[in-house]
This record gives sequence, C-alpha cells and structure tokens, in this order.
Amino acid sequence: MFPTARYEALNELGIETVGELLDSSIKDFLKISGVGPKNLGNFLAHTFDYIFIINKPEFGLPSVIQDIPAPSAESALDIHTKLLLSPWFSDKTLKAGFKLLQGDRLRNVLFYRNCAGGQFYLKKFHYSVLTFDDAPQISQRFKISHAECELCDRNQRTHEYCRHSAAVAIRFLDHLVREEWKKMPLPMLYPDTIWYLIGRFLFDLHGHGRPAGINVRRHKGMWHLTVEDENKKPWFSWIFTPWLMRQAVALFGNKFEYHEGLEVDDAERDHLGDFFVRITSLARTSTEVELNELCERSIAQERDESIWLWLAGKFCMTIPAENLHVERSGEDGLFYIAADDSVTGSEVLNLTLPRDKTPDFLASLAVRGIGEKPLPPAKAFCKIYFDEDESSLIVSPRLRLNDGTVLIREEMEAERYNRCYYLEGEGFLPVEEQKRDVVFFDNPCSTTRVDSNDVPAFLEQHRLALHAKGNDVDPALFKFDIQDAPDRIELNAFQADEDWCYLSGRYGLGKMTISLEQLMAARNNGLEYLPGKKKWLKLTDSQLEWFHNLGAERICYDSDGRSRGIRL
Ligand SMILES: [Zn+2]
Repeated sequence: MFPTARYEALNELGIETVGELLDSSIKDFLKISGVGPKNLGNFLAHTFDYIFIINKPEFGLPSVIQDIPAPSAESALDIHTKLLLSPWFSDKTLKAGFKLLQGDRLRNVLFYRNCAGGQFYLKKFHYSVLTFDDAPQISQRFKISHAECELCDRNQRTHEYCRHSAAVAIRFLDHLVREEWKKMPLPMLYPDTIWYLIGRFLFDLHGHGRPAGINVRRHKGMWHLTVEDENKKPWFSWIFTPWLMRQAVALFGNKFEYHEGLEVDDAERDHLGDFFVRITSLARTSTEVELNELCERSIAQERDESIWLWLAGKFCMTIPAENLHVERSGEDGLFYIAADDSVTGSEVLNLTLPRDKTPDFLASLAVRGIGEKPLPPAKAFCKIYFDEDESSLIVSPRLRLNDGTVLIREEMEAERYNRCYYLEGEGFLPVEEQKRDVVFFDNPCSTTRVDSNDVPAFLEQHRLALHAKGNDVDPALFKFDIQDAPDRIELNAFQADEDWCYLSGRYGLGKMTISLEQLMAARNNGLEYLPGKKKWLKLTDSQLEWFHNLGAERICYDSDGRSRGIRL
C-alpha cells in the first residue's frame, strides 16, 4: 500500500505488517538508506499518514474503496475465475498470478475500451496488458486475443500467458459491476454501465479541454476534486484516495492544479504515462491508426482518453452502482447524482445536472434501473377564451394527462426541465407537443394575453390553430363577427340649446346594449373594437368613426353628476 520508496525502505527492515512497524525501534528506521536524524520525523509522519488513510473508518473519514484491493493472504482464487481463464492460463500460472495480487505487487490498473492492464513493481516498474474480445462461440463469451508483458515477453503468442497477465485477468474479472449470469471482464461490461453514461455526459459538457474551476485539494488524508460553475458554485465533487490522485497526476496532471503536498514517485509517474499510451494505442480502430499516422485524432479518441472517461472508469471500479442515488435539491430544484461510501455512508460523489439536460440523462439512467422511469407523455393543447371583462383573449397552453387531468403550463414553470415537467413523487412528464403549423406561439409554455385591438388580426392569422384537434376554444370565437355599425341605435333624448345638440341613447349589438358614454370612453382608451360575446363593433375605419372619435369630454353631466348625453 505504500509508495515505492517507502515500501522499499520498510522492506529493507523486514517490516511487513503494521504490528511489526509499531514494534520497530527508532534506531531501526535510521538504518534505512536516505533516512537520517533530520528527516526521520518526516519519514514517520508520512508513513503513518498512509496507514491512517487505509484504516480510516475509526477516524470517521470516508473509506473510499481502493482501486485495487489486494485479496487477503488466506483467500483462494475463485473457482469460476479459474475455469473461465483456463483456455489461456494453466492452473499453475493462475495461482502465481493470484499470489502477485495477494502480495500487493499490482500497483496500478487501467482499462481503455477493450484493453486492460496492470502496472507491477518488482524492483522496477513494468506493465502487462490484455485485449479482450467477444467470443459468442465459446462458453466464456469472451476471449483474450492479445497479451503482452514488459517483463516476460512483449508479444506472447502461445496460449500460455505469463503470471502478470494472469493477475491482470483475475483483477478485471473480479469487479463491482453486477453481471446477470456470468463473470465478464470489466472492460466488456463498462459501456453498459451508468458510469460510462456519466463519463460521456461529462465529456459532452466539457470536451477534452481543461475545464475552468477544476480544483483538487487534500482534506483529512483524502483528495477532493471539485469543479465550479461560473458563479463559483461547485456542481461536481469527488473524494478519492491518494493512490488515485497519483494516477490522476501522472495521466492528467496538466488538467488541474493541486497545491498541497502529494508524494509523487517520478519513476511510477513516468511509467504510468507510458502504460497509458500503450493501452490507448492498442485499442485503436484501424481508421484511428490511419488518422494518427496523419497526426489527426478521432473524436472518440478525444473522448475515451479524456479525464472524464478516466474518472468514470475509476467510479466504476470503486463505487458499486447500488450506492448511487438521484436526488432533487430543495433549494434550486436541480437534480443531482450522489454516491455514498459503503462503509461510512458519507458522500463520495456528487454531480449536479444542468437543468435542460436533466430529463434525457435521467431517462437513460432509468433504463439501467437507477431512479424513476419517465411518465407516459402528456398531450399539449391550448385553451383560448376571453377574460372576464371580455376585453382581451387569453391563450393558455395546457397539458392533458392520460387520466384526463388538465394542468396549466405557466403554473408549472418552476418544475419545467427543458421540455419535460417534474411531478413531485411521480417523475418526469414528457410532453407530446402540438405540430408546428398549428401552434399559436413558438414558446408553448407561458400564457399569452392578446389585447382586444389585436384580436381580429390574431384570429385571422391563427385559423389553423383555432381548428386544430385538441385545442379548447371558446365557441363564440368560431362565430366571431366584426360589424362596422351596431344592429340598432336607440335614441331616448335629443335636445338642442343655443349652438349645441345633445344626444342621449345607446347602441344595440346582438343581445348587448352599449351606452354612448361607454362608446366615447372606449375610444379614449385607445380601443379600436368594442368587444362583445360574438359580435364586435368596429370603432375606427367605419362610417361612424367621426362619432366614435368625439371623445369622453363631450359627455355632459347634470348637476347630480348624471350623464345628460353627448354634446354634438
Ligand atoms: Zn509477465
């Protein structure tokens, strides 16, 4: 579990367990080459730091699963693993490979597409890499189509691969992804996991560039990676082991800054870099090989070699899918994906989803059994009606659910995620929108009020939409009629004194009566039409326009404040 130099140093003293370490005397440590009285304190502090990280539950820290947990010395190789790998390894080699794992010789593991490999330490670093392929014709359903080992043989052509390859094969058959009926190597299952979806999702958001606001810091012996948005609000956080931090620095050190001390082993780091180059090169498609010769790269290469896909691969190896849950923030209504540590229950991963991408992403998770499945789609329609004083027309986009319930879209704006709505406790409600040629407005989510002056033009312009199936239209609108003159003019008084005439009476329009005072006031208020239930009276551009334009100041009142009529 220690970095190379420390491991070597303790090995020199024959210390193999924590107990032996505690029993050792200070004088013993001074025997280690490179450790003197001056740096002894530092050496011990760092050594115990590692022990505390590995034994953290007692200290209340998150116990993030190690990338490569070594099987205990007493454990035996799983019989199924042994049978599955028998076409490529003898029993003896498998046993030797398992022993390498138990002895903690496998320092780092990486996988990329169908390639998986391990970095070993035996006096110096070396890697061993395997390529897995589908093999539906054999009971394994997979085959090892290529194996190479830096230590044993670059290309092993026989079906008796080396023990390092065996250790890698065992390690990649023993993982956290639950299989339905049979063990399969992790790289072959990975594309079907939610982790892979999360990796692609992160890459789609950020590409292969260096995201702004990516921050790594050390906290209580673990490393915390956070990414902040433009408002400095963290939307992504992950807690991981110093072990993975060293891997991250070796592969993507240029992608983020870390300020606090990390003990980096240069030899390990450089070798990890070479190891990554090798597996990413082995798993290229033939088109990519040609592209790379022309110094170009495929988009898939940019994506699969990005820090995001590496991260997702590490989640896959360290967090069981059942620890993952989808939650909605009560504060801003945004959804996030969180994962808890198996032992302490504390949160080790938190990813806030951008609002507009939430429904699609959660639907893809739901397919894999995480979170709620989307509800059956609701049908969009519009209710069109006159408001209470009949002066303006209301166009109200609504949703009709499967059970007949009707919801007003404007009232659900806070629950809208792109084109879906979230119904508390039920899930996402997708919307079957109306066809583009029958919609009233481009934005089908908010209620629109059409001013009475614009109603005739509006009705003329949206004839198709008015008659579209599903819309709930006030029947009066279908018989809508605009008249130049009223049906009746009822005069009840006409008098003249000096130079003026006074007229009093009312208009009749359908079943409605309109006083002349109402008429004058309407023009003063800028109305071009006097709205009625079915019949509208045109106030301008008609023979009576001069009359309608007289204005409210022509209304005469008697001493009691009652209208005496219009002064002509
Ligand atoms: Zn080997």
